[in-house]
Amino acid sequence: MKRIIFATGNQGKMDEIRSILADLDVELLSMKEAGIEVEIVEDGSTFEENALIKAKAVASQISNMDGVTVLADDSGLEVDYLNKEPGIYSARYMGEEVPYEIKNQNILERLNGVPKQQRTARFVCAIAAVLPEGETLVVRETVEGYIGWEPAGENGFGYDPIFYLEEYNCTTAQLPSEQKNQLSHRGKALRVMKEKLADR
Ligand code: IMP
Repeated sequence: MKRIIFATGNQGKMDEIRSILADLDVELLSMKEAGIEVEIVEDGSTFEENALIKAKAVASQISNMDGVTVLADDSGLEVDYLNKEPGIYSARYMGEEVPYEIKNQNILERLNGVPKQQRTARFVCAIAAVLPEGETLVVRETVEGYIGWEPAGENGFGYDPIFYLEEYNCTTAQLPSEQKNQLSHRGKALRVMKEKLADR
């Protein structure tokens, strides 16, 4: 493996991925850096399926996969009391353009009066790989927490202000980004995938 192409257009994610994969002796490129543009329809029914759909769509645009591994991720929030909503629809929940203050407020309202032990939730991240020979790998990791009663914190993005970590007694939006990356679902999944790739 000489080169990894990560199927994301998100610069923040690329920075995190670069720092976690830094000690792999490979060239790491974003889709854009690799000159790949492709319309991807994420119509899977699980995080794993969607990550694989993205990785395969990008791999299908590469004429010579010799030494090239394509990685893609899919992530989101599962709230147990809401039958694991918003789940794979986390970005699209209430509409893609709806600000997260409103999405977060809506989740808090749907949990109105629900006791703490029923407010359990998790961030999930699946990472899929298409290897040079066409073989595929998928890993899934989570970080467990609960939905609080009011938003808190300015860091992070998305659902971070309402997602509380029991052991830190604060939301993931209140943690410094290095600390969040250390314990995040994406960080965990990337590290597991890295070990699998290192064996190749
Ligand atoms: P993506 O698949 O990584 O683009 O994530 C999909 C959606 O899940 C995001 O738009 C967020 O709504 C939510 N999400 C994923 N990871 C996080 C996180 O670390 N914090 C807050 N929200 C997240």
